[in-house]
Amino acid sequence: MGGAPDLPPDFDVDVHRVAPDADTTAGPHEASMEAVVELCKRRGIIFQSSEIYGGLRGAWDYGPLGAALRDNVRAAWKRSMIQLRDDVVGLESSILMHPRVWEASGHVEGFTDPLVECRSCNTRHRADHLEPDAQGRVTCPNCGSAELTEPKAFNLMFRTYVGPTEDTAAQVWLRPETAQGMFVDFALVQLASRRKVPFGIAQVGKSFRNEITPRNFIFRVRELEQMEMEYFVRPGTDEQWHEYWIAQRWQWYLDLGVRAENLRVRDHAKEELSHYSKATVDFEYRFPFAWNELEGVANRGDFDLRQHSEHSGRDLSYYDQERDERYLPYVIEPALGVDRCALAFLIDAYREEQAPTAKGGVDRRVVLKLHPALAPVKVAILPLSRNEALTPTARRVSDLLKPRYLTQYDDAGAIGRRYRRQDEIGTPYCVTVDFQTVEDDAAVTVRDRDSMAQDRVAIDRLPGYLDERLALSGASVPG
Ligand code: ATP
Repeated sequence: MGGAPDLPPDFDVDVHRVAPDADTTAGPHEASMEAVVELCKRRGIIFQSSEIYGGLRGAWDYGPLGAALRDNVRAAWKRSMIQLRDDVVGLESSILMHPRVWEASGHVEGFTDPLVECRSCNTRHRADHLEPDAQGRVTCPNCGSAELTEPKAFNLMFRTYVGPTEDTAAQVWLRPETAQGMFVDFALVQLASRRKVPFGIAQVGKSFRNEITPRNFIFRVRELEQMEMEYFVRPGTDEQWHEYWIAQRWQWYLDLGVRAENLRVRDHAKEELSHYSKATVDFEYRFPFAWNELEGVANRGDFDLRQHSEHSGRDLSYYDQERDERYLPYVIEPALGVDRCALAFLIDAYREEQAPTAKGGVDRRVVLKLHPALAPVKVAILPLSRNEALTPTARRVSDLLKPRYLTQYDDAGAIGRRYRRQDEIGTPYCVTVDFQTVEDDAAVTVRDRDSMAQDRVAIDRLPGYLDERLALSGASVPG
């Protein structure tokens, strides 16, 4: 490759590709869903929305650590997709859009899932998710009855009304994807940011889908957050760019520590393609319940810009000065969910290990080996005990680190137990202040989460020591 300036640069990434009909059986897993869900609840990472009222299906709340994890997922994506690139700009478009957007995009007509109802227990299911039983019959997963209604198309968009009247003229939709914001704002953003094709527009934001069967914790939810990028290219260069973005996205997961054996890229079969798509691949993760979609990377052709040009009457074509050509750009779209990818990161990081105790025994430890860029808390400050000789120094260490990272100060209970508490939320470094610190060397012990190795570091060298280790790993360090 190379030559034409609008072709992708060379890349050398070994992506594991599988056929459309690849087996989805996950096989034995180190982390069970139950263990991850239990940890998330107990440590206030993720729990049911409105729990005191019995919860609301498909809606989840992210507690203090979960909120920090989400921030880090978004930041890691924006850093790689926008900050480190010259050819992608950011956008935050609104959740409520003109209703005609969703007519043009095909969502009013076609954003549906096939719904069946069980005549026996009245539960509703997504027909394309039902597996035939041993006799080849499709049965209700709730009661086992084979008495199911014929599938009917159910539109997944939530509707609401703008203004005081609840009639069809006032009806709007909650967006089911962020992508349409990038398409309808394409010309404005291109002009204002003076970008030439090829270039991309990226956005992180909430989307809503009235899923028939939300399930598997935060895997399939009704209120989700997406990270999507629309990359506009000259027609004819789209296939190369599609391959390029598949490789880039693959590398992103690996750079964030996801184990390559738990990731694969599956081509869509022709009949599986969405109405807008020329070609799509799914990034699949080996979730404990099955290999399943984590991210889609689609070649959307010129479908969206063409539709919006026709429906709005505004010409969204692009004039390519170098080639003296006017065309509707083709679009390559990597799209993933914050929630779903946070789940994959949590599962991938979850380990149960044997650890030696101070007294020479062995102890079980649960450790989240999250990449430091994703870890909610970067450093914990742990005075050896709650002794008044130690507290002022420990507080001083904490004040030194607080402006740089999210830290936690914990002086309650035995030090071994406090290490375990930090291990199970994935804190990469624990800093211990002991009597030697205050009486003798003005140094602290820094413990590494994964190796459990300990280093003695002078307090005045501590920020540099940690910056170096965390920055090397891509965690953002100010200054
Ligand atoms: P499915 O066929 O599983 O319903 P989809 O193929 O319609 O999903 P896309 O429209 O490609 O999904 O959405 C892009 C990404 O957004 C998905 O790969 C996933 O990470 C995320 N996503 C979509 N729907 C949900 C949901 N209900 N809950 C959580 N994440 C979602």
